Amino acid sequence: MAELAKLPGIGRKTAQRLTFHLLKQPAETAERLAAAIRRVRGQVLACATCGNLADEDPCPICSDPRRDATLLCVVEESGDVGAIERAGRYRGLYHVLGGRLSPLEGIGPDELHVDRLLARLANGSGVREVIVATNPSMEGEATATYLQQVLKPLTGAEGGGGSRIRVTRIARGLPVGGDLEYADAVTIAQALAARRDMSETD
Ligand SMILES: [Zn+2]
Repeated sequence: MAELAKLPGIGRKTAQRLTFHLLKQPAETAERLAAAIRRVRGQVLACATCGNLADEDPCPICSDPRRDATLLCVVEESGDVGAIERAGRYRGLYHVLGGRLSPLEGIGPDELHVDRLLARLANGSGVREVIVATNPSMEGEATATYLQQVLKPLTGAEGGGGSRIRVTRIARGLPVGGDLEYADAVTIAQALAARRDMSETD
């Protein structure tokens, strides 16, 4: 109970309910869960290129030659990659920030993989468009605005070795304050299709 209660979103009551539930199940149910937890720590790692969690590095998306390497979708968490993949429309690559700007939680730009993103884009990556797909929450929007600012030098003709990069933001339509990870596939596909250029006036 004490260990479960340490997990995010699980209070003391839920931890108690989960524990009692497990005790009522056949022993193998609890053993399967324990084995899965052990496996996830031992085998899952963050892809050194995009930050996506996978059981190999580079991850299956980065190492798939059929993916469109001119498109780079920036998301907060690995779970968002899964959500967009389930929507089934996007064929580009990803960059996982590992969170979003949150002054209250002490998460600044240095805590996110922004430097890795810039390094990726600077390396003659062939990326033509960066799609900012942070969550439609206040922190997600602040993160999007921050990214727009740091990516700005790459969008001008003077930037990045003459190769201009377009920076777009997924459309609203996702519930405000919502979480990409839990949005349905149709909503995600529409938000991606209706993405628009980010400019300082909006
Ligand atoms: Zn990857």
